[in-house]
Parts: sequence; structure tokens; C-alpha cells
Amino acid sequence: MVTIKKFVFNPFSENTYVVFDENNTAVIIDPGMYYSAEEKIIDDFLSNNELELKAIIHTHSHLDHMFGTAHLAEKYQLSPYLFEKDFETYKNFERVCEMYGIPIRKKPTENLQSIDLNKELVFGQVNFKVRHVPGHAPGHIVLINNATNSVINGDCLFYESIGRTDLPGGNHNLLLDSIRKELFTLPKETKVYCGHGPETFIGHEMVNNPFLNY
Ligand SMILES: [Zn+2]
Repeated sequence: MVTIKKFVFNPFSENTYVVFDENNTAVIIDPGMYYSAEEKIIDDFLSNNELELKAIIHTHSHLDHMFGTAHLAEKYQLSPYLFEKDFETYKNFERVCEMYGIPIRKKPTENLQSIDLNKELVFGQVNFKVRHVPGHAPGHIVLINNATNSVINGDCLFYESIGRTDLPGGNHNLLLDSIRKELFTLPKETKVYCGHGPETFIGHEMVNNPFLNY
């Protein structure tokens, strides 16, 4: 059995996901913990449930999805996964935080593992197929988990909305095309876990998403 637990962190109300199996293997997707109290919430959740953290995976490298990366990489000795087309944004993290006037305590590790689109990411019983969905960010990927019939889709689709495309590397038409090609080809009953806000379903968005229905 695979369980997905959602936490909401940082001033951007970002969704951080802990995905784990019954043998206590866990991965964290988009660690957004900004305050040390938020880091403690994740550390306590892992230790209280005796979970062993095996991977940090990023759907993309916008700052609100990686405030907690430095802490996790250091504490659990892990090299975060990221798709290569977002490496540049990741490496600009400090500069972007400065631009937004957001002080950071730790610089995230530069030791990254690149995601291969042709290979499943497998940690115990936690498996993800990966698809590249550019438009919100050039290297944005989504993580499809068959065991839970769901996709962790970062900032591509939101409940009856889509990710913003006014940030560097964003492209509105490309985002619409990639959602149609890579997300709307999933089964309609697939649950969509978003980078912000509530969950939705592929079938619901195919009918009700105002950006994709006209
Ligand atoms: Zn984003």
C-alpha cells in the first residue's frame, strides 16, 4: 500500500508531499519547509512513523518548492532529483530569493541527480513514471503513481486553473499543449495532487477547466 500525505508550507502556501509504503520507505516531493518549525513538522512526521527517507524529488525548481531542500539533503544525506532543464533555475535559487527579498538560512546542495524520462523512479513500493510537462517551468515534470491512481503534478494543473506562465521560462501556449498531451491522456479517474490548493481529477479538469475548454 502506498500513502500520500500532504503538508502546506511557507508564505506561498505550497503543497509538500510525503509518499510512503508499508515497509517505511518514504520520498518527499517538493519540500517547501521555510521556517525551522516547518522542518520540524517533517522531521517529526518521518521519525514518528519510523519512515526512512530515500529520495527528494522536485517537480520543478521554483523557490517555493525547494525552501526545504537544503535541510533534507543535509540531514538525510540525499542528492535531490530534478529534470536537467530546470538545473539552471535551481542554481539561481539564492539570487531569486534575494530578488524577492526572502532571506534563506541554508544554500541547497549543488549535488543533483538528473531525472531520466525513460526510467521509472523506484523506491521500495513507491514507483513513479515521469512525464515532461513544460510551460510553467522549462524542466517541469509530473510523477505518475499507479498504486494510488494519481499524479503529483506540481504547478501545471490546479483545481479549475493552471500554473502561471509569466515567470522566466514560462510559456502559456506550451503549457496548454503539454497539459493536453501529457496529462489529459491519463485515465479520467486519475487524482491530481497540485503544488498549491486542493486535489482534483483529470476528468474534472477536462470538462471544467476554463483555460482548456473553449
Ligand atoms: Zn512553480
